[in-house]
Amino acid sequence: MSSLDQFKKHIAQTSDFPIGLEISHAEGPYIHTTDGKKFVDFISGIAVSSLGHRHHKVIEAIKAQLDKHLHVMVYGEFVQQPQVDFAELLTSILPDALDQVYFVNSGTEANEGALKLAKKHTGRSKLIGFKNSYHGDTHGSLSVTGRDVYRDPYLPLLPDVHFLEFNSAKSLDLIDKDTAAVIMEPIQGEGGIIPANEEWLKEIRRRCSENGVLLIFDEIQSGFGRTGKMFAFEHYGVVPDILCLAKAMAGGMPMGAFVSSTQIFQAFKYDPPLNHVTTFGGHPVSAAAAYANLRELLSGDYLEKATFIEQKAKGILKGKGIVEVRGKGAMLGLQLESKMLTQAVVEDCFTKGLLLGWTLHSDTLVRLAPPLIITEELLDEILETIRASVAKNI
Ligand code: PMP
Repeated sequence: MSSLDQFKKHIAQTSDFPIGLEISHAEGPYIHTTDGKKFVDFISGIAVSSLGHRHHKVIEAIKAQLDKHLHVMVYGEFVQQPQVDFAELLTSILPDALDQVYFVNSGTEANEGALKLAKKHTGRSKLIGFKNSYHGDTHGSLSVTGRDVYRDPYLPLLPDVHFLEFNSAKSLDLIDKDTAAVIMEPIQGEGGIIPANEEWLKEIRRRCSENGVLLIFDEIQSGFGRTGKMFAFEHYGVVPDILCLAKAMAGGMPMGAFVSSTQIFQAFKYDPPLNHVTTFGGHPVSAAAAYANLRELLSGDYLEKATFIEQKAKGILKGKGIVEVRGKGAMLGLQLESKMLTQAVVEDCFTKGLLLGWTLHSDTLVRLAPPLIITEELLDEILETIRASVAKNI
């Protein structure tokens, strides 16, 4: 039986059409397959490998931690230096109000924790989310994800969740004194790479503050330099009460976090104590990787690179069939005219050794999320390949 057949037989499948690449190894911007092919990973494992695959600083930190200890105790009991080092560095680059970090293992867990924290802190249960959002596939995150096709098979989900139009002033008065939290992506990812309008975001912040509602920013996809700032909220001058992070945080290791203030986190300490715990959250190897990853991001010119990628992509990807290139930094979407063209371009580029992808809620948008270590030469080559592919397939 081939490896692909074994994969299909024993690994639970989430569709009938997996990409099915058989991975041999991955390094920098490249993924190598067992049949000797090399792909440029232009989606960074969906916005994870921002420093490329196996960045040497991250690998060194992982190896050093392997020689010290792996899991020792459930979350929050023992002092584990990699967690402390990383949390200290992370909070040092965040606004003062975001001074404590709760570590989890994934993006959806970060959102779950944030929602519970907001409910506990406010004593309220009403939640506000946005149409076309994506927050993860566990029940709480799915409850605030704004796409019925994913929600309907799992109803009933959390009650008292209301969905507003993204970038619309309509219904903002739903943010009231009964509301625990507003949860949103400052740049919608799976919804089709849609940045929030600055004035609108400021208005949401104002209404949240006025009504004692916690504003949760899901920066799981946009965080850690992808948009040309360390965090997307910095583009807007709007600070959330809770910031949710994952994906690119630990340089390819699994890790998530929600960050808030010491005062808000008090809510997790009582009634009952230990009311939010996790066995593996903040795993020391992931934490060591995250610390090395963030130090590297802070020491290089990666944010400038993300902005450079945006300028290049917006400059080169023009012409018939292309509606626009949307997004900020290296969190970009190439909006094409039709679903057929989108599919043809992604497939055509795949045959040329270029990994692109869709976003979950849009079938006319090509996701572009290259690693921030990409050279100008490779970037030019890839953008030219995409441009030529659109021209050929129109
Ligand atoms: N929020 C956003 C904005 C995301 O893009 C994702 C993953 N695509 C998630 C949450 C869920 O993260 P995870 O898959 O790590 O649970």
